[in-house]
Amino acid sequence: MKFVTHSPEETIAFAQEFAKKLRAGDVIAFRGGLGAGKTTFTRGLSLGLGLGDNVTSPTFALVNEYRPSQNADKPTITGLFHFDLYRISGAEDAESTGFFDYLEEGGVVAVEWSENAQEILPAGTIEIAISAPDETTREIIITGDERFADTGN
Ligand code: ADP
Ligand code: MG
Repeated sequence: MKFVTHSPEETIAFAQEFAKKLRAGDVIAFRGGLGAGKTTFTRGLSLGLGLGDNVTSPTFALVNEYRPSQNADKPTITGLFHFDLYRISGAEDAESTGFFDYLEEGGVVAVEWSENAQEILPAGTIEIAISAPDETTREIIITGDERFADTGN
């Protein structure tokens, strides 16, 4: 599906709706350069998964974890695991971030700069390509999973 937004808030709102269809174990691989809106989209994912809006870029940490609070009732996922592989190249490097351990945890894994370690993405990875035709417009194209096959706007 393709969806167009005109502000960061719209991207967050769209990602929040999108997140409702996610399940434990889903992997999302972003494509799109610096400033495309990958981290902004992930903030919407976190909100949609009930994990708050306090999402920052994992550029230096390589991975940030967002987990349900202890008193949340019956969380359906163990957490949102947000990777930035900008400084990574290949599967070995990715392994050192704990990527494969996070995959097993039953959370949602979202990966920025996944093209740096394409071979680590499991079958069924949801691809989200974001392009920016101008300052405030973002075209969001989601492929790889029939749950998101409808046409959007
Ligand atoms: P990335 O993680 O892809 O580098 P960020 O999400 O960190 O990108 O930054 C996206 C930037 O683009 C932010 O400064 C945000 O305010 C701006 N922006 C402008 N329009 C939009 C939009 N429609 N959707 C998302 N971000 C937008
Ligand atoms: Mg980012």
